[in-house]
Amino acid sequence: MNRVRRFAVGARPALRAWLATACLWLSCTAALAATVNLAVPVSGPLGTSMSLLEEYGPPLPIEEAIRRHAHGAFRPGTQAVPDFGIGARPVWAHLAVDNPGTQPLPRILQLGTTWIDRLDLYLVRDGQVVRHLQAGDGDARLQRPVAGMGYLFEVEFAPGTTAIYVRAATPDPLSLPLVLMTAQDADTHRHWQNYTYGALYGFLLALIAYNALLYAGLRERSHLDYAIYLGTFMLLNIAYTGHGYALLWPDAGELQRYVILVLMLLFGCTGTRFAARFLALHRHAPPLARWVRIYCAGGFALMLAAILADRQDLAALLAFVFALFFVFGMVALGVFAVRQRLDAAWYFLAAVAWGMCGALVTNLAVWGVLPYNAWTYRALEIGLLIEATLLALAVTHHVRVQQRARQTAEELARIDPLTGLFNRRAFIEQGGQALATAQRSDRPLSLVIIDIDHFKSINDRFGHAVGDQAIQAVARLLQDTCRRGDVVARWGGEEFILLLPETNRSQATFLAERLRQKIEETPLRTGDTAITLTASMGVAARDRHPSLDTLVSEADSQLYRAKECGRNRVCGFCQAG
Ligand code: GH3
Ligand code: MG
Ligand code: MG
Repeated sequence: MNRVRRFAVGARPALRAWLATACLWLSCTAALAATVNLAVPVSGPLGTSMSLLEEYGPPLPIEEAIRRHAHGAFRPGTQAVPDFGIGARPVWAHLAVDNPGTQPLPRILQLGTTWIDRLDLYLVRDGQVVRHLQAGDGDARLQRPVAGMGYLFEVEFAPGTTAIYVRAATPDPLSLPLVLMTAQDADTHRHWQNYTYGALYGFLLALIAYNALLYAGLRERSHLDYAIYLGTFMLLNIAYTGHGYALLWPDAGELQRYVILVLMLLFGCTGTRFAARFLALHRHAPPLARWVRIYCAGGFALMLAAILADRQDLAALLAFVFALFFVFGMVALGVFAVRQRLDAAWYFLAAVAWGMCGALVTNLAVWGVLPYNAWTYRALEIGLLIEATLLALAVTHHVRVQQRARQTAEELARIDPLTGLFNRRAFIEQGGQALATAQRSDRPLSLVIIDIDHFKSINDRFGHAVGDQAIQAVARLLQDTCRRGDVVARWGGEEFILLLPETNRSQATFLAERLRQKIEETPLRTGDTAITLTASMGVAARDRHPSLDTLVSEADSQLYRAKECGRNRVCGFCQAG
């Protein structure tokens, strides 16, 4: 055992030396920045085959760049997509391409991101520049990006070795993807891009239209804010993927310089505005709502100042810092909403968490903190799609909750709080319908008004609370005795009203009599005392009365008669008291 440990300890320095040599060897191979062989299919960005030089001082002429490369001043690329962050120095990249065949090979060279201000591409053979191409969005005379694909150059590689030199300069985030594709690869790629962006914009447009229509119909501002937020995202995406400059504003070079940055800011503002409205911050956290406004206004003021001073580098820094704050701000709002138990808070948090993860990844990838690749570059789109879907659910949840609240409020407005019976308003509504049905089908229908006798004295002797209990007891008894289709309501004070479909006058009088007896036989017990309640009732039937009003007033006069005749009795038309 000991021997094993001694061996392990003894072997450690040797292992370390071996590892160091391996690393050195590996880094040397990387440092050699291998030549790209066109006979072998290549895919993906070629950053690790490139070597790079950051330019300090005045712009280097290409001859000087070639000279410096020959003197080993370029360092080997370590990332598939070299990233230099915001406000970086101009960068030179070198890539050696070998065509081992005897025929020239055409290739499409995809280079840079759409917002790079200026790209210079030189093809160099035997130390001589054989071609110079220029692209970028910093000057209207330069080649523009191809929608969704960045900058594409058609180049032809003669047999032998060709050196590609690229100079990229921009105050915006500088990353330098370089991909060599055959025409067929480029076609496939273009189709893929077209389909995915088509699907993305189709989905966003549908959601925008849907929310705009919901706003038009419901006048609920969060729908409009959501549509604006999605619209801003779509514009931002159109701008930074190059669709805008390639297709929508090809002649507006000046606009292109700032449009992405301004839209980034706008995206943050419309997002927080939507969040503030959706979570009703002005109601739940007025100071926070104020801070959201200050944050947006401050962002715009600073952006305006940067644009007026023509400081694209500061504008870029501001846009990215603002976007980062936006990312964390939205998640913080989501957490706040969940902790405050606000409506649809979990939906909101889940949604913004997805969107914000995407935004964070893309932001950091473009900024040079995370590796830059197709997934990290498009993470914002993926995140936003999931966010949009979840938020669409959240918005409908919102509507559902509001609808339910309205329904509850409407129901409460129809219910008497003391007894849980319908109130007078609801009775008139229901009674009118029942009467109309009975009249249409010429069916019998009766109405009974019930009034507790000497109720005032119950209140006086036992207190108002016991009076309430008496009202509740009679209400319960009425409800238990009546059939399903009957409408039972509290007409006011200690008066109740029953509407009895499919019941003629004598059946109604019989039912009323049964109710009267039950009330009399069911004393109200409070503590040691049992209070006997009695009630008087008036009955009316549809046959003589065309409207609910006249039916009620007939029953009322029968009730009056019952009171006159000594109370605790049922009176109906043609009946003795
Ligand atoms: P009568 O036999 O003629 O019907 O006499 P009454 O005392 O029952 O009738 P009156 O209309 O003179 O008095 C009704 C009383 O009911 C007056 C009012 O204070 C009381 N009352 C009305 N609503 C309520 C209520 O919700 N709770 C209680 N406890 N009392 C109520
Ligand atoms: Mg009364
Ligand atoms: Mg009474």
